[in-house]
Amino acid sequence: MRVLVTGGAGFIGAHTCRALAAMPEVGNVTVLDDLSSGSLANLDGVEADIVTGSILDRDLLTDLIAGVTHVIHLAARPSVPRSLADPLASHAVNATGTLHLLEACRASRPHVILASSSSVYGDRPEPRKHEDLPARPLSPYGAGKLAAEAYALAYAHSYGLPVLPFRFFNVYGPLQTAGHAYAAVIPAFVSAALRGEPVPLHGDGGQARDFTYVRSVTEVLTDAAARQVTSAKPVNLAFGTRVSLRHLMDLLAEIVGRVVEPVSLPPRRGDIRESQASSRLLRELFPDVRPVSLEDGLRTTVAWFEKGRVPGVDAEVGMPV
Ligand code: NAD
Repeated sequence: MRVLVTGGAGFIGAHTCRALAAMPEVGNVTVLDDLSSGSLANLDGVEADIVTGSILDRDLLTDLIAGVTHVIHLAARPSVPRSLADPLASHAVNATGTLHLLEACRASRPHVILASSSSVYGDRPEPRKHEDLPARPLSPYGAGKLAAEAYALAYAHSYGLPVLPFRFFNVYGPLQTAGHAYAAVIPAFVSAALRGEPVPLHGDGGQARDFTYVRSVTEVLTDAAARQVTSAKPVNLAFGTRVSLRHLMDLLAEIVGRVVEPVSLPPRRGDIRESQASSRLLRELFPDVRPVSLEDGLRTTVAWFEKGRVPGVDAEVGMPV
């Protein structure tokens, strides 16, 4: 296998590259990343060819894809609030960038896995989001991800491209950064709690998420690539857990061993009340996958933040990332 990972210097991308590089059947890993939110430090110690560039550079994409058998497409401008601030930039990378990538794959037809998002479900009232529900994105980010997965499936239908679009839910773990305006909830909570500061809580804390530890995600991605799994519809990549932000705060307090207080902030525009996956299709396609529990994943994440570890060293010291 020769694998191109777009967005490979990002949080999920770097873990994916590390897992791929350890697989005997993988001959080469190439990363394409513009380093807009990713970092080369995330790839310390990972055997990969790193190309700094954008998925909006069509010539570069064509060159890179000609040499690979698999593409794992993770490059994106992530975050709902970021897309609200600049919807055109979000669309350019997440929707148009994905279309460029698919077009570059049309001739040689590598196996393509891509990252869509639970945000495509928007505020659908059903407590468990299953893949047959009509999508109803609330944000430009969700709309762009819906376009990306729809294009991927259209390329499968129209040109026989083998594709597997995944809808990630709330992925967390080491390497996911806090301290910026668009930080995800777990790194924002963990870093505040460790500094003894109140955690930033938007809304009443009753909103619920289906948190997925990053290793559970990379296990599915690498298995899907190795077995060239395809699907005629997007597949939720989450395990159907329902955790409110209040409960997350309590669990975090137990792990860090001190009281965790919230600082109440107004609800965020585009925020979704209930985001819980149906994992039926995922479990059908990947019957062997065993997700890491929230408690174990959160402990590892806290340990990573506490020790301020250099990302590349984690694997060497036996951190189960
Ligand atoms: P991330 O920001 O850490 O990774 C995204 C990577 O894409 C970064 O390294 C960034 O530099 C790179 N990138 C951005 N624009 C690019 C461009 N034009 N060309 C090349 N590279 C570019 O975010 P992540 O959490 O690792 O997310 C990975 C993928 O998963 C994204 O597609 C994201 O939308 C999706 N996703 C993540 C979550 C989550 O909970 N983390 C949830 C749903 C979907």
